[in-house]
Amino acid sequence: MRETLRQLVVLQRVDDELAGVKLEAEGLPARCEAAEAERSASQAALEEAGEALKARELEQRGLESELADAEELIRHLEGQTSQVKTNAAYHVLLAEIEAAKQAKDGLEERILETMEVVSEHRDALTTAEEKARATGSRVDEELARIESRVTELAKDRDRLGAARDQAADLLDPDARSRYERVVERRRPGVAIISKEVCSGCRVGIPPQDFVELLSATSILQCRTCKRVLVHRDMLGSGS
Ligand SMILES: [Zn+2]
Repeated sequence: MRETLRQLVVLQRVDDELAGVKLEAEGLPARCEAAEAERSASQAALEEAGEALKARELEQRGLESELADAEELIRHLEGQTSQVKTNAAYHVLLAEIEAAKQAKDGLEERILETMEVVSEHRDALTTAEEKARATGSRVDEELARIESRVTELAKDRDRLGAARDQAADLLDPDARSRYERVVERRRPGVAIISKEVCSGCRVGIPPQDFVELLSATSILQCRTCKRVLVHRDMLGSGS
């Protein structure tokens, strides 16, 4: 019976490992999605930075074109000063020239301000480009890691599947079917204990069961959670 209990524990350990492999494999698609989402977000930020810069550059070009028009107007008005006939018309013309010069000054100021903003946006774009590059290679690495993990896990699953079959075949049929019934509902299917408490469900083990457990003459299950109970001493040293 001790041997059966030991074999049960071996089966349970293989099942634990299998469950871990399965859990990790199930989490991989979400890891891929998270990595791709990170890439998309950095690409979106890059595009946004590019659009913002373009808009400001367009604004600057518009102002520069307005400035050229203003300069052209001033030249045109100044060209007329020698042609005015009356003093009044001359004053009107001077006022127009002054207004045009003020408009030109205003435009120059706005161009300087816009140039500063454009420069800030250019820096932001550079930062976004660097970030997108770094994110891109990090995501590529993560996807490569996940891909190789998929292969490793498939191998682990095959190896553990074979180990499970082997461990299960060695088991006494009654012990095996009891164990299989438990693991259909809860894991682990074996509770390894050292005190009079089930390590699976934390409920106390009746004294008569505990005595039986120590003698290891039969397969005993927790009365509450139905886990197969194995006393730590039954496992021997090194297992
Ligand atoms: Zn229990």
